[in-house]
Amino acid sequence: MARISSESINAVRDAADMAAEVGRYTDLKRNGAQMMGLCPFHDERSPSFSVDPQDKLYHCFGCGVAGDVFGFVMEKEGLGFSEAVEALADRYGVELQREQEDPRAEARRQARQRLQQLLERASAYYSNYLWESKEAGKARDYLAGRGLAEGTLKAFGVGFAPSAWDKILVAGQRAGFTVPEMHSVGLVQRSRQGQEYDRFRARIMFPIRDARGRVLGFGGRATREDQKPKYVNTAETDFFHKSEILYGLDLARTAMAKENRALVVEGYTDVLALHQAGLQGAVGVMGTAITPDQVKTLSGVVDEVILALDADEAGQEAMLRAQRVAGGRRMRLRVASMPKGVDPAELMAEADGPERFRGYAKDAAELTDFQVTRVLDRTDTASPVERDQALAEIAPIIAGMEEGASQSELVRKVADRLDLEPAMLMGRVVAATPATGGPGASEGRDRAPATQPRQAPPRSAELTPRERKERALLAMCIALPEQGASFLERLKDAQLSPSGRAAAEFLRTHLADPAEHLPRENGGLAALITELVMTAREEPASEESMAWNFQFLEERRLEDEIAAAGAQDYERRSRLIRELSQLRQGSPTRNG
Ligand SMILES: [Zn+2]
Repeated sequence: MARISSESINAVRDAADMAAEVGRYTDLKRNGAQMMGLCPFHDERSPSFSVDPQDKLYHCFGCGVAGDVFGFVMEKEGLGFSEAVEALADRYGVELQREQEDPRAEARRQARQRLQQLLERASAYYSNYLWESKEAGKARDYLAGRGLAEGTLKAFGVGFAPSAWDKILVAGQRAGFTVPEMHSVGLVQRSRQGQEYDRFRARIMFPIRDARGRVLGFGGRATREDQKPKYVNTAETDFFHKSEILYGLDLARTAMAKENRALVVEGYTDVLALHQAGLQGAVGVMGTAITPDQVKTLSGVVDEVILALDADEAGQEAMLRAQRVAGGRRMRLRVASMPKGVDPAELMAEADGPERFRGYAKDAAELTDFQVTRVLDRTDTASPVERDQALAEIAPIIAGMEEGASQSELVRKVADRLDLEPAMLMGRVVAATPATGGPGASEGRDRAPATQPRQAPPRSAELTPRERKERALLAMCIALPEQGASFLERLKDAQLSPSGRAAAEFLRTHLADPAEHLPRENGGLAALITELVMTAREEPASEESMAWNFQFLEERRLEDEIAAAGAQDYERRSRLIRELSQLRQGSPTRNG
């Protein structure tokens, strides 16, 4: 798709309400020109998250995250840059202009837009039909019987597809859409005789939407006993990729982000029932298994996922797969043990259901624990062969865990059940390669915890004195651009840390408006620039303190050079030492 024009990006930035965007995740209080709140990216008790509503920037002094309004939406909603611009443009009613588009791309985009409209209209049609038609009476009764209120059903856009063969076909054509268009979004299908007809008939319709609430397809539930299969989904289309979809994500995301936890269930009605009961962080997987794409989507929003899938065999396999795909992502996966044969929707229909469900979620077992227990439960511990097999299966699972109390606890539990010495079991664990890519596995070990978003600059507390001075100086360069330009010109690479070097390089060309040209291709640098811009706003700046910071950096540079010169290069060394002591004696000069 053609690039969004930079004028449009600026228009969206101007229109966006930064405080409102952040306010969806954390409460903000005014503090001078800034607003402060608890960081929505890391766990904290006292607010260190600062928002600049004017320039639409954010920065956390605790965990170091920083960025502009687009960056915030990207991080929080798991979107790419242009998706974030589009989402904000939607929200604030800005019409996006695209840079000169090649005509074919433009045609494709318009075609896609038409298909999107077609899906939205179909969704509205089904929804109307559910509430208005006599034919849908039984469906309304069924949904009411499941305890689902009208408000919930309407929020999710639930509808009903007429039993006739051609209602959508006719209505769609009447609205100006072609049969091939309806075909391509999966609303109609072709019979063997070459006749097109409605794919969904006499079914309760659940529109399936993306994270931004756009309809991508439908799930249709049978309303009669003889109707097979029980569920029909939209076939895979250009729009609809089942393995990527999380049902209800558009309505769940805010709650999920706030709680930093997602509840994953299986069915459409499970999601509806949980939302209705106040558990709004619930999403549905389209089947019994959670897919790598779904895990990836969730890992952009939350650090913990609780799987409340049916505890049957298929569901359990799904959970084991989920762990493999979560490997290295530092996402905590837990399994709620639901009572056998009861799905969350049924549970919610009971008076104490929501409370019981919260209990299951609270007591959910770590996936590793769940997995090990499952192996133990099917092992005949009286049989040496089976015990050996169990050991071979379990050791790599435990090896995939992080070292710590829960690992030792699990080792003790397994040793006890298999009647082994814990030390012997631990030996097997150490020898085993982590099979499942659990949280502690390979690449996971040296990754930042998920609460610290990718590429965040180092936390302020971890900065060296040199980096602190360097950042102070660079921020003051932004605050006092005239003097800043001259300091930036004189700053040598050798005075700066690698991140400071990149920031100085960037500021040399963007000193007037750094926030508007954040280098998005380099997340770490973009975050650092944001932090500098916000510091520039908050902290006092003067030419004198710039000079002091400059001198500090210059002294460090000389010290480095002296150390590098070593004892051999006597002449060079003494020249540098002289230079350093002059620098220390004199007041900071402008020609350092
Ligand atoms: Zn933070």
